[in-house]
Amino acid sequence: VVPHLDAMDAAWTAGVTMGEGPRIGVGPFVDRRSDLSRAPQWPTVRPAWVGVMWVGERSTGERSFHGDIAEGARADVAATLRYTGLFRSVSMVDAYEPPPDVDYLLTGEVEELLGLQYTKVELNLLSAGLIVTRADTPIGTARVRFRLVSAAGEEVWRAPLETRLEVGRTSLKQAALDALAVTHQRLVVELGQRLVGPRIRPLRSVALRVLDACGLGDKLARRLIEDTSEIFELELGVELLPIVETWVPPDGAGSAEDLLTAAEGRDPPQAGLVVALAPFHEGLGRPGGRSGLARQLGRHAVVACAPVTPRAATIAHELGHLFGAVHVRDRGSVMYPVADFDARFFDPLNRRILAAARDRRFERPVAADLRRALRTLYDEAAGLPAHVELADLEAAAGAL
Ligand SMILES: [Zn+2]
Repeated sequence: VVPHLDAMDAAWTAGVTMGEGPRIGVGPFVDRRSDLSRAPQWPTVRPAWVGVMWVGERSTGERSFHGDIAEGARADVAATLRYTGLFRSVSMVDAYEPPPDVDYLLTGEVEELLGLQYTKVELNLLSAGLIVTRADTPIGTARVRFRLVSAAGEEVWRAPLETRLEVGRTSLKQAALDALAVTHQRLVVELGQRLVGPRIRPLRSVALRVLDACGLGDKLARRLIEDTSEIFELELGVELLPIVETWVPPDGAGSAEDLLTAAEGRDPPQAGLVVALAPFHEGLGRPGGRSGLARQLGRHAVVACAPVTPRAATIAHELGHLFGAVHVRDRGSVMYPVADFDARFFDPLNRRILAAARDRRFERPVAADLRRALRTLYDEAAGLPAHVELADLEAAAGAL
């Protein structure tokens, strides 16, 4: 179990101002997984026509993970806290009492870490061997109980956070680790809201017209946008105000491009943006497949709801493009190009891009000074090929 975020090298974080948030100490973590979490499950054998079949859930167990799970989770929490740059300092503390140089001490108990998958395998005597007739998407589940104590030793927050994540094209173990990583990203959102607040103030409100072609309904669609808004509020002090309506895409609009073109026929609200949530199949299930599309620095985005409900992180990613954000190779960033991970924070480069574009007047063409600022940031990023895909940068610069 190793941190899911890359080490932050100096060139990558250059120009990023550290947060004003309190100093956090990351204290001991404990492994409290249940026996069920530790024992691997296997599909059960059933007789079948001229053969046998195994049907049921396959899961990770004690031996699926290497090393100390509690220590791994702790290191990942510390890396995630640092990555977001919200806090003045993040240090490791080997005690349950906060030392004098921290304002808060965080401890955790890993209650569950599990990857599972429903499978159906047949051994048919008439055919050449084992046939996997059905294997559902691996599901990762993680639950960690966190406790936050102030410098005075008072408990200020205590809660379990649980994440259940469907992760395509990956191993059971990776699905479990991804669920753990997302749990940690959600933890930092929680701590950010409680202890720090928006990086940039005062809050700017942006109206978002939500075209719901997924049949989510007003309540669920609003909750999804609230989740997305949490990301934007912390990162750049932008609050998204959803206006949800049912949408029926035109007949034959099946690809992301078709749907984006159709959505572009809908006017954005006053000084706001449009996001269409629609089922589309192009690219899904393929490595590198898209689950959303937006025109760089445009006003419209589309996000897929199939095969699962849209993810807040994918909506944040596509809206990020409307603010000029570019793809990066950090898997822990919202701007990672493949939506197989549910990240809740941007990376240092996109943080600077978003800060430059946060007050963009969407109803007007991109202003000259913003265009200059973005060009400078894109040029600078071109010197960091380890983090940024150059072709993506050129495309973004082209949109200017
Ligand atoms: Zn993208």
